[in-house]
Amino acid sequence: MTRLSQVKVTCGLCGHRSRQTRLLSTCVFGSPDLDLRPPPRQRSILRLSVQACPSCGYVAPAIKRADAVARETVETDAYQALRVGPLGETLAGRFLRAALIARHRDDLGQAGEMTLYAAWTADDDGDDDQARAWRSDAADLIGRALETMDPDAEVTGHTATRLVDVLRRAGRFDETKSLADHLLTRDLDPVLTAVLTFERHKAEAGDTACYTVDQVFAGPHGSVMPEANEGAAQAASPP
Ligand SMILES: [Zn+2]
Repeated sequence: MTRLSQVKVTCGLCGHRSRQTRLLSTCVFGSPDLDLRPPPRQRSILRLSVQACPSCGYVAPAIKRADAVARETVETDAYQALRVGPLGETLAGRFLRAALIARHRDDLGQAGEMTLYAAWTADDDGDDDQARAWRSDAADLIGRALETMDPDAEVTGHTATRLVDVLRRAGRFDETKSLADHLLTRDLDPVLTAVLTFERHKAEAGDTACYTVDQVFAGPHGSVMPEANEGAAQAASPP
């Protein structure tokens, strides 16, 4: 069950007070997609990932906190163009504004995350071309973030495996296979190895479809790691 509350929040940039919805608790049932999108019943809470100030347009996970980078970014033409452009106050528009602030902060991992969230909203709208374009942008950002991460850290293997899925779903099959092959030479968690083998097979087939973590172990590749099924969702659960 998802529990929400309404709170009054003062914007850290302009001081405007607005009503925002806060997530108190939720339960996750089912298997996430391979890019770690939550299962369908939990997707509605995605809109709570960011708050938006209705006065100055500042978007952040918590708008009560703001810094000089946020202020400078909100004042840029690019940010204001996103705000008053066709995307306006859509969820995709808010995620892309949050991504822009993260990019100005040089937090490319967060920028990639927010851009991927925008792609998910395009999925929901049935806009495949836009979803593919934003996925491709997200892949570029996540790829650049990976370059700054410790190659031996566990989180790096998880992030790189997620990137393989984002690349495949963006239709960048050569890069998908190349990165998967590179990762498969390393001593990874068996669940990640199974996911990468699955991803490589789908990329070889030119398949951009969405698959869940459970499907990696339930399909023709189920024999790869059937005993790892129980740990799959846990290993791939969103941070
Ligand atoms: Zn504001």
